[in-house]
Amino acid sequence: MTAQAPVVNRDAPVKRRRIGELLVSKGVVSDDQVRIALTEQKKSKEHLGKILVRLGFATEAVIRDVLGGALGYDTVDLTKVVVDADVVKLIPKDVARRYHMLAITYSGEAGVVTVAMADPYNVIALDQVRAQLGGELEVRALIAGEAEINKAIDQFYGFELSVDGILQEIETGEVDYQSLEAESDEYSQPVVRLVNALLSDAVKRGASDIHFEPEHDFLRIRYRVDGVLRQIRSLHRNYWAAIAVRLKVMAGMNIAEMRAPQDGRISLSVSGREVDFRVSSLPTTYGENIVLRVLDRQKGIVPLEGLGLSENALATLRLMMARPEGIILVTGPTGSGKTTTLYSMLNHLNSETVNIMTLEDPVEYPLEMIRLVGEIRDEETAEMAFRAAMTGHQVFTTLHTNSAIGAIPRLLETGVIPDIMAGNIIGVIGQRLVRKLCVHCKEVYEPSMLERQILNLGGGSEAPPIYRASGCKRCEHSGFKGRLALTELLRFDGEIDELVARRVTQREILKLARNKGYTTLAEDGVRRVLEGVTSMEEISRVMNLTEGIS
Ligand SMILES: [Zn+2]
Repeated sequence: MTAQAPVVNRDAPVKRRRIGELLVSKGVVSDDQVRIALTEQKKSKEHLGKILVRLGFATEAVIRDVLGGALGYDTVDLTKVVVDADVVKLIPKDVARRYHMLAITYSGEAGVVTVAMADPYNVIALDQVRAQLGGELEVRALIAGEAEINKAIDQFYGFELSVDGILQEIETGEVDYQSLEAESDEYSQPVVRLVNALLSDAVKRGASDIHFEPEHDFLRIRYRVDGVLRQIRSLHRNYWAAIAVRLKVMAGMNIAEMRAPQDGRISLSVSGREVDFRVSSLPTTYGENIVLRVLDRQKGIVPLEGLGLSENALATLRLMMARPEGIILVTGPTGSGKTTTLYSMLNHLNSETVNIMTLEDPVEYPLEMIRLVGEIRDEETAEMAFRAAMTGHQVFTTLHTNSAIGAIPRLLETGVIPDIMAGNIIGVIGQRLVRKLCVHCKEVYEPSMLERQILNLGGGSEAPPIYRASGCKRCEHSGFKGRLALTELLRFDGEIDELVARRVTQREILKLARNKGYTTLAEDGVRRVLEGVTSMEEISRVMNLTEGIS
């Protein structure tokens, strides 16, 4: 169900009667209860739903969901929303209070503000929001319970929400540990807001993980952005105990356990997006390290064409995926974007309604029809994968090796018989992530002799410009913004199968593959440098480029 701009019914009394009827038809309340509430309404002039809740005839959550469903609006559970202080303040507090509404997300690009409202038919309220926002923006209404909105208004307007402000508040006040463990009235606790603010800040900056690392006398907070860990803040060590407790409560972990590693999960709505955080704690000398891995569902799935493959590679990949049974392996070290590639392929097949079988829980992104996703780690998982392939399934899995060709010896080590490998592997994708040069500040330079050799540049004047990193405000002076995957695709066909079955050396297999147009990760890197999207320095950071040079 998608919520559109409200279809306004200006006939308020008719509308009120309709909400009553609707609730009766859904079996939420009886005719008598509605009649009592309508009588009451003549005196109090309150919203009918609110009166029904006050009289104890229905709960707010039920009314919210029934109204949302029937009126074609999405509903929002405000207790799961982490708001952006700047967005909330788009609507002044007195207006928010008067009309029971709260701005929760703002998209400047789309020109849309999402507002939680108890009554999306309140024309005056909607006019007020539009007036406040300057009339240029589209207002998208989500239904929330009135009491829930009022509570959220108290929280979001009443308390400091910025990281710096909260820190100042903490420095001057005391931390109440008991309220950290309770779910009620948690907003009065600055640590609760601090954790929310940090998570929201990390998501906004595009961090893939957040590290809380206690040291001897301070707590270091680092975000991984574009694959590189950056220190964001250092806090006094005194804060750590409270922050750790809060994170563990949110992630459903045992707060008393501090000597053994634990895993947990937090689901939140941040800036209007559903975000899951996979949380893990690890005891260290100075206390527990806690790392949150950000799983952003909307950002998670990239279309096949968005993977940045060369035209040739994309065509090869499509060919591989068209094979109805067998195994496609994605290889690379940790953090090489294997999961992104895997989900991109699964999603592609999914849209074509092919029956997919993959390995093992947990599924990190919501994809229908996909039961199991995982990694070949040992004999058992290898057996599962090959058995599924041999019984007519397409299997997608990951393997931890440094190159596509490296998958062959690795599988041999795990006990897979060469004959089985030969018949059942469709192909192996090897990959590595490198940072993209910031388009605002990258600078042209004259490559060295060695670089020219690697890039295979002649002395001619028609050579493309080669760029290197510089640094500007937009890339936080790193010279890079965003990442791209370098890819190599080793497609297994009859001839390659034969070599694998004969246990020949990797070199021989590569020689044959090369004749069939196979290009290595390093060559893909060179292609991207020549395109001007990354630098020589960056690709040599992740791989040895001089191997092919004699
Ligand atoms: Zn820049």
